[in-house]
Amino acid sequence: MSDAIHIVCPHCNAVNRIPTARLGEGPKCGKCKKPLFTGHPAELDDRNFQQHLNRNDIPMLVDFWAPWCGPCRMMAPAFEQAAARLEPRVRLAKLNTEEAQATAAQFGIRSIPTMILFRGGREIARQAGAMGAEDIIRWVQAHL
Ligand code: ZN
Repeated sequence: MSDAIHIVCPHCNAVNRIPTARLGEGPKCGKCKKPLFTGHPAELDDRNFQQHLNRNDIPMLVDFWAPWCGPCRMMAPAFEQAAARLEPRVRLAKLNTEEAQATAAQFGIRSIPTMILFRGGREIARQAGAMGAEDIIRWVQAHL
């Protein structure tokens, strides 16, 4: 890793440059002053997805879900736990496929929940079906 990395703010979508050594010290956004990591997944949509995908220097794990999907709702607490454990090394985010239909179509999401792990703006792994927190963490670590 280099001396400083770019982190996109989950609140205002601003790109922040953070010294790598201070990543674990609760860095705040220079623009909106809110924490860059909250222990909860970021909420993405068609407007901010590309910004988070392309400007985050850390890997990003996205849960493609929908409100009507029972397994998605079952997996939500596990994904929250995984966020608390994997941050700040990985950005966890959720994308509501019912609202963000363009992004869901771009990645050919056919079944939900689907998780995609991105690094450097590119998909490196994909998993369909609900998983528990430990399995999510293991799956991510196996691919990084
Ligand atoms: Zn911000």
